[in-house]
Amino acid sequence: MASSSSVRLLLLIVLVTIPASLSHTILQIPPNRHASEDRKLRADDNLFCDSWRFSVETNDAGTWDSIPSRCVGFVQDYMTGSRYASDSAAVANFSLAFGQAVKLGGDGKDAWVFDIDETLLSNLPYYEAHGFGSVTFDEEAFDEWVDLAEAPAIPASLNLYKGLQRLGFKIFLLTGRSEFQRNATVKNLLYSGYSDWERLLLRGPSDKGTLATEYKSKKRAELITEGYRLHGSSGDQWSDLSGFAVARRSFKLPNPMYYIA
Ligand SMILES: [Mg+2]
Repeated sequence: MASSSSVRLLLLIVLVTIPASLSHTILQIPPNRHASEDRKLRADDNLFCDSWRFSVETNDAGTWDSIPSRCVGFVQDYMTGSRYASDSAAVANFSLAFGQAVKLGGDGKDAWVFDIDETLLSNLPYYEAHGFGSVTFDEEAFDEWVDLAEAPAIPASLNLYKGLQRLGFKIFLLTGRSEFQRNATVKNLLYSGYSDWERLLLRGPSDKGTLATEYKSKKRAELITEGYRLHGSSGDQWSDLSGFAVARRSFKLPNPMYYIA
């Protein structure tokens, strides 16, 4: 076997005998600076956007209008890859475990409250065509999408929904959608596999202009007045879960695409 000093000598001879112009070409191949800079920028964006996502999911970010422009690709990857499905399943599993631990009263008053959009139904087909939350919300276009009644179920939420029903919970659907969207909403829920809810609560004329937190708190308070025990509440917005008359446990589903106060 050649010693390292003889290898070095051989290398030196080769280098000396290569013509200057050729050695320049061989030995000074410029590194692919653009590719490595792009990789670093992507890594920086991923780190920034992952921290941003953490901050909006925990509500540390407070009110926000649209996702940062540098995070569009990140949110797209999150929503369309396996991560969103995995996070949704983790939330559903913890929710069901809690539900299984509840001792039901047997009087039909044990209740669970679900939000609808990005909680039971996924509007991802709409948001895929509207920048994943990076463009200003277009109410007219979204209402047209709701009318189609084609939003698919979030699979983990459908499992949870059916699991809670089997356990004996009464299911209340409390949504920011308006009364004029009742038929389309019922059609969509049935189409995507949900059925046998106790009541579907939508915004009526007197709820117009009320913040979601206030509107949903008032509706939950009415259920409590009717004698229901609100054990669990599931929503993709903190405004689904906070305020007053809150459930014993609140379960926050992921949604890095939009914020509702
Ligand atoms: Mg929602």
